[in-house]
Amino acid sequence: MNNKKIVRDGHMHSPYCPHGTKDSFEMYVDKALIEGLEEITFTEHMPFPCYFIDDKEFQDECAPNEEVIEKYFKDVEEIKLKYKDKIKINIGLEVDFVDGYEEGTKRLLNSYGPKLEDGLISVHFIKMGDEYVAIDGKEGFERALEFYGTTEKVYDKYYETLLKAIKSDLGEYKPHRVGHPNLIRIFNKLYPLEYKNKELLEEIVREIKSRNYEVDVNTAGLRKPYCGEIYVSDIFKHLIDEYGIKKVYGSDSHTASDAGRDFDKE
Ligand SMILES: [Zn+2]
Ligand SMILES: [Zn+2]
Repeated sequence: MNNKKIVRDGHMHSPYCPHGTKDSFEMYVDKALIEGLEEITFTEHMPFPCYFIDDKEFQDECAPNEEVIEKYFKDVEEIKLKYKDKIKINIGLEVDFVDGYEEGTKRLLNSYGPKLEDGLISVHFIKMGDEYVAIDGKEGFERALEFYGTTEKVYDKYYETLLKAIKSDLGEYKPHRVGHPNLIRIFNKLYPLEYKNKELLEEIVREIKSRNYEVDVNTAGLRKPYCGEIYVSDIFKHLIDEYGIKKVYGSDSHTASDAGRDFDKE
């Protein structure tokens, strides 16, 4: 349990998320107020620079397109004003790091960057040979498991990609907070592993520290049926505490009722 009440949610989605709910911005903000929050950031998924997986339908479900995201910016601007006396609302994006598509990602970030007040850099995809797989879906995770042979090697690949994301040059608007760094544990109840590669995790934490980045203490894992933990856990959690990395809680809510949820847990 935290002694200090968490009053900021740094990771919230919106009605524009294709895999989320249609809950309105007002519903999210009203729930944040009920939770006693004083500051929130809408971090909708940033559009992708191009198609990088063959299944276009699937990719379209992952993030809004460039046209939709303009509406998103407009709506957050409005909601920000509407609630300005009640709560601080930041305009943000959750930016996907896609290994090999840094240039395109940087181009988009350069165009949206001037509007951004906060944001996240997250890894959902790993590169397997010359294809990409989303590891937060069971099918993708299991394909990776087949490709790499062991759960440990899948974790290695995820953390190597995360390290690359942290070190990547995505331009001056690159977000400073690492989204759900332990997302790879999403299926830990199905594929249990006590990950031991402390060296790799410590390198990640050192790189976060040297850039003065923050981590997203993401409570969504508690709600995932095969996870049951927060996505900053175990050795990784000890390391970020040891290195004094700044933690910002995030609900990763895709539905209003999840805003600010489980912030009393650690
Ligand atoms: Zn999402
Ligand atoms: Zn995410």
